[in-house]
Amino acid sequence: MSEYQWLTCIIIFKICKISFKICKNKQKRHHILGILENLFNFAKFKTKNILKKIKTVMKKLMIIVALALVSMAGVAQNFRANLDESVKPGDDFWQYAVGSWLKNNPIDKEYPMNGAFVDLMKQNELRINALIMKYANEKNLPQGSDGQKIGALYRLYMDSVSRNKLGYEPILPYLKQVREINTREEALKLMAAFDAKGFNTAPYGISLSLNPFNSSEYMMSAGHGGATMAQEYYADPNEQQKAEVAAKKSLYKDLLKMVGNSDADAERMMEATWAIEHRIGVKTLNQVDRRDPMKTNHIMSWEQLLQDFKGIDWVGYRDALNYPKDIDQVNVSQLEPLHEVEALLAETSVEDLKAYMELRVVRAYNEYLSDDFTDREFEYKKAISGVQQQKPRWKRAVAEIDDNLEETIGKLYVAEYFPETSKQRVYRLVKDLQQAFEDRLKENTWMSDSTKTKALEKLHAMYINVGYPNKWEDMEKFIDIREDQNLVENFIRITLESRAALIRKYWHKPVDKTIMPFSPQTVNACYVPMFNSINFPAAILQPPFFDPESDYAANYGAVGAVIGHEMSHGFDDEGCQYDKEGNLKNWWSTEDKAKYDERTKVLADWFSKQEALPGLFVNGQKTLGENIGDNGGIQVAYRAFENRMKQESLSTVDGFTPAQRFFLAYARVWASNITPEFLARAVNSDVHSPHIFRVNAALPMIDSWYDAFNIQPSDKMFIPKEKRALVW
Ligand SMILES: [Zn+2]
Repeated sequence: MSEYQWLTCIIIFKICKISFKICKNKQKRHHILGILENLFNFAKFKTKNILKKIKTVMKKLMIIVALALVSMAGVAQNFRANLDESVKPGDDFWQYAVGSWLKNNPIDKEYPMNGAFVDLMKQNELRINALIMKYANEKNLPQGSDGQKIGALYRLYMDSVSRNKLGYEPILPYLKQVREINTREEALKLMAAFDAKGFNTAPYGISLSLNPFNSSEYMMSAGHGGATMAQEYYADPNEQQKAEVAAKKSLYKDLLKMVGNSDADAERMMEATWAIEHRIGVKTLNQVDRRDPMKTNHIMSWEQLLQDFKGIDWVGYRDALNYPKDIDQVNVSQLEPLHEVEALLAETSVEDLKAYMELRVVRAYNEYLSDDFTDREFEYKKAISGVQQQKPRWKRAVAEIDDNLEETIGKLYVAEYFPETSKQRVYRLVKDLQQAFEDRLKENTWMSDSTKTKALEKLHAMYINVGYPNKWEDMEKFIDIREDQNLVENFIRITLESRAALIRKYWHKPVDKTIMPFSPQTVNACYVPMFNSINFPAAILQPPFFDPESDYAANYGAVGAVIGHEMSHGFDDEGCQYDKEGNLKNWWSTEDKAKYDERTKVLADWFSKQEALPGLFVNGQKTLGENIGDNGGIQVAYRAFENRMKQESLSTVDGFTPAQRFFLAYARVWASNITPEFLARAVNSDVHSPHIFRVNAALPMIDSWYDAFNIQPSDKMFIPKEKRALVW
């Protein structure tokens, strides 16, 4: 699973997802994603580039579940073909386990990396396209029907002739309004009015969220926007971060030129925009601090918000977005950057505010303009990720339709690709892992009995979502696609209507914690701290992660470790701060928490020593939650594998013991080639460790890996037993 960071407080995941869908404005979407990420305990407000990054991150969080694991026989994957046998397992396990795979699988030009996750995404493109094609030429379906929406959106998106003819005409009326602003008062008023339409013109915002201290209650969050990258990119950028900043500024300038500004004007406007963005960004929490929920949640009354942040017209903003007038309390994520927003709104010249707004208007919906806009965005993406080739239009249409009609597509997807029997089988598999986690918790020697009891309660209170939600949210009935309007006008209307529908459906209503945060066709999985739920969409419950041709040793190593990873998130350095109900509430004794911190520090220190590129090291503190997830996930999956072996022993196949197959399958899940740009980006802005370290840094902490491959002190990866991290 992103230069995260924004304001806010915690929002119910699905609501964010729905908001995200209805809000076509990219900057706004980042705002929503920031909140979404908050749910993951990553942080708050987020930015544009981050959007794509987050999606990638989430995809990396995927859990791949075995459709038929429970009933599997004993056939082995062809692990030998992946090996580089010139390397000893104990010297470089990554190279040993998947060296030939890496050599034989170059990166596809349309992606900045490859591997099992990307393979599933590619398969999904074909599958979803096949679903869309059923409606692509059906022009007489009833307006508002699922097929009509899918077909109409597809035709509008694919109509390159009309789109290119229009150029940026769809946003021209809005640009004119910005350009005609004369006073600060007019600027501030239009900022809010345009935010309502999905343009991200206000560097602050309000959104629907959950109370982190009482996750059964909806509340509003408020916070800053504006910053589109993590704090480090503004405050103290390293070489790769500087390069990304330069690419972004170049993009800003070009976009401004493309809507009629002269080179000199575009340069001035870009610098003004960047100054505003930088001013806010530098005041935000860094990526380590924003993972700390205690630093990112500040509940206050509505009156106190108005009192403490007088420089922002909250009432005007609330009313412009048609939010309820009975907001009694709000959660402000980060106080300092919001104060900075107040100051800059008062101090920045009207011309500079207009420049900021103009760029936001251009960027909000530029994916719906002519090809020169989408091409320029791709050039930016290429610069920051190293991807070589833009995806063909049909693949972009698939992504667009999937983004906006995800539940509509999801129902079709499940019917076509996910039989009910699979749901039951996977559910049983997850329960196996839960039992293994319980076994290990009971044998835990460092926790007191009272804390251990609470941990067991939390483990058993976890809600398990497999494949698709038990209940559809049915929010896409408010999405109306009209072919007599261009895409921009469609999405402005949809944004307005859907926000109103969102409030009608959720405000003052009971919170349903079984809501699934992802659509069934999402190649992803996650733990949601405020719901204490683990979620495994249908799209990941298939090969190559789960291989029905493989025996259970390999499947526990692949699918099992990922399931264990998500469960362990409930007990990582952030997740452990939430109780079994999903409330931010300490359930630890002081002594046990101190022991926990001591153990996790071993992991943090160890990962900080991992060098991804010359001079660029992993941040062990930032990636700690994910590394605890992997450490726990492998341990728990291995225990589930051992439990199974007691019932049904496996033998050596192709020279590999069952335990060896477990770890070879684990390495295969993470095998991937990656561009240096994307690798740097992952280290600089992702809370996950790069894939190579999820193998080569994670496994030396696992005793059973040493036993499986007879790793000796003379081997390069050897770590003495007393120095290995053991958390769960
Ligand atoms: Zn994770």
